[in-house]
Amino acid sequence: MIFVWSLLAGVILFSVYAVIPTYYNKKINPNIIRHAQGKDTIMLTFDDGPDERYTGKLLDILKENGIKATFFVVADNVRKYPQMVDRMMAEGHCIGIHSYCHKNAWLKTPREEKRDFENSIDLLESYNWKTPFYRPPWGHTNLLSMYYAKKHGFQVMLWSVMAQDWSSKSSKETIIKKLLERTREHSIICLHDAGENSGGAKDAPLNTIEALKTVIPILKQKGYRFVTPEVAQYEAV
Ligand SMILES: [Zn+2]
Repeated sequence: MIFVWSLLAGVILFSVYAVIPTYYNKKINPNIIRHAQGKDTIMLTFDDGPDERYTGKLLDILKENGIKATFFVVADNVRKYPQMVDRMMAEGHCIGIHSYCHKNAWLKTPREEKRDFENSIDLLESYNWKTPFYRPPWGHTNLLSMYYAKKHGFQVMLWSVMAQDWSSKSSKETIIKKLLERTREHSIICLHDAGENSGGAKDAPLNTIEALKTVIPILKQKGYRFVTPEVAQYEAV
């Protein structure tokens, strides 16, 4: 009987600490950005990088198409490949923080969540980079995530379009199909420029990169404008 009560208490605690905050923040919380603003706008965002195997190729495509994107970087990857972030900044892209080492907020203690924000910010600041944008790994938050995000002045941004580009089951073709079917005005598209280090399939970003060579020109032709959150905020004022 004690076992049953302990189990029940555990389920309730976990729901209050992790599941309910995540549901609220994903679906309801009005302070979270889930859509772009402005006429014909869409946002292209990339999580989990930088990774020198993929990020440079991606930046090449963005440059060829003359568009800007937002990179939600993992601080530990920034430490490994700071030159990639240098290039993002030099080419006018926006960066946001995507945690220190991509640990799920559901598995972080309150102290770990606090340190995750502090360590990520410190790492970026050691390169003189600062960003007001934050996206939690997997979109998962715990009871304290929004408190620390607010404390450090972050705007939390999720997404409205995914193409499962991280999956080993996806291909260039499936990513193209999903992106073209799902993207509409104000979409925030979430793709990935890292693979196996953050829960995705090895070399999955190569499919993403190939798909974007087809998708970006089509979306441009449809009249969409690719904006970053900084631009979108400016336009909304
Ligand atoms: Zn991620």
